[in-house]
Amino acid sequence: MRLSRYFLPVLKENPAEAQIVSHRYMLRAGMIKQQAAGIYSWLPLGYRVLKRIEQIVHEEQIRAGHIPLLMPTLQPADLWRESGRYDDYGQEMLRIKDRQDRDMLYGPTNEEMITDIFRAHVSSYKDLPLTLYHIQWKFRDEMRPRFGVMRGREFYMKDGYNFDVDRDSALHAYNRHMVSYLRTYERMGLTAIPMRAASGPIGGDNTHEFLVLANTGESEVFYDDRVTALKLGDRQVDYDDRAEVEGICKEFTTLYARTDETHDEGLFEQIPEAHRKVGRGIEVGQIFYFGTKYSEAMGATVVTKEGNRVPVEMGSHGIGVSRLLGAIIEASHDDKGIIWPEGVTPFPVGIVNLKQGDAAADAACAGLEKALLAKGLEPLYDDRDERAGAKFATMDLIGLPWRITVGPRGLEKGVVELTSRRTGESEEMAPEAAVDRIAQIYAPHR
Ligand code: ATP
Ligand code: MG
Repeated sequence: MRLSRYFLPVLKENPAEAQIVSHRYMLRAGMIKQQAAGIYSWLPLGYRVLKRIEQIVHEEQIRAGHIPLLMPTLQPADLWRESGRYDDYGQEMLRIKDRQDRDMLYGPTNEEMITDIFRAHVSSYKDLPLTLYHIQWKFRDEMRPRFGVMRGREFYMKDGYNFDVDRDSALHAYNRHMVSYLRTYERMGLTAIPMRAASGPIGGDNTHEFLVLANTGESEVFYDDRVTALKLGDRQVDYDDRAEVEGICKEFTTLYARTDETHDEGLFEQIPEAHRKVGRGIEVGQIFYFGTKYSEAMGATVVTKEGNRVPVEMGSHGIGVSRLLGAIIEASHDDKGIIWPEGVTPFPVGIVNLKQGDAAADAACAGLEKALLAKGLEPLYDDRDERAGAKFATMDLIGLPWRITVGPRGLEKGVVELTSRRTGESEEMAPEAAVDRIAQIYAPHR
């Protein structure tokens, strides 16, 4: 992409309405534009990152054996009357009437609708286990929308629902989700810690929230800091292997990590003092096992192997896809701008031409662009007739992890400069070597 032809409306000034750094940088980098409180347009740069994040979420859900579908944003109220939540949900639900005077709503979540799909088509244990998910816009009329996409009213969420014949299978589905989420966040360059969340009406130890540590987070968190060093890495997981999946969950949930809702001071004090930490976190996901709460209310049953008809066991599992942009920026930035992790960056590399109009520099940039494209790595080429300082400032603000700087002086020696956004370190090398290096860096992320 050539910057002269792109749509990147960067702002020079700090927008007064933005209270936290991610919101500020998303506005300044021309990623989003507010259209109403908590409702945003996704401008091209923001849209690219949103799609990258969505892609990673899809890949990891599919890897875990979960099946994508798509449900609508608008739902009939009657489904929610069946579960009793139409009245319970309160003011966060956006209620709408159609021209026939039928009650509709903009879905804040989809337990009822997915249960309706299930009961229409599935009735035997033979069709289980089954986990269906979608990534769709949600609407919650939050009392205090704020911090940009972090707490929106319209937001993009992955929500998945497992259907299982018995409690053990449903708990395996829960564990499968936990592991797939850990991998999802790691691919985005995040450390998201599963923390025991407030247990639902069923009680027990079966809901976890995933929190990214950040001073601007809305949740207070209490944890053993050794939990932040745990990594899934590139180990291969057999998602059908119950013991293996459960083992990984144990590994990641044994050290103390809780939000204020479930915090237990007595247990906390047993952590060696040097590792005992209190901080803040951003909730980027939550998994939940709730058994037969919806299936019983809505008559979603299956016939077991033994011939008994039982309500199907369920859980639901969400990832805040649009919130993740904010969380990643909170976790990865400096005073010049965003620093995208390679997994989610809108462009893998930027090209800065120090002397636009210089025949050798123009040709070298075009050559780099072509060579990168041939490797499936689309660069953002700043081909504008601007001062070098302004070009660097834009690149730093929008946070591409790598920059190739091309100028007549370097070209005389046959080199360009490759710079890491994260460390600021630069290295001179031949243009072909820079392309190879970029390809190498991104190989694990494709
Ligand atoms: P919160 O406690 O932050 O209001 P929640 O627990 O109500 O969130 P869930 O129903 O668990 O949210 O939704 C799954 C995920 O969707 C959350 O973990 C969060 O990442 C994201 N999410 C929830 N509400 C919003 C919102 N208003 N704006 C952006 N993302 C949201
Ligand atoms: Mg939640």
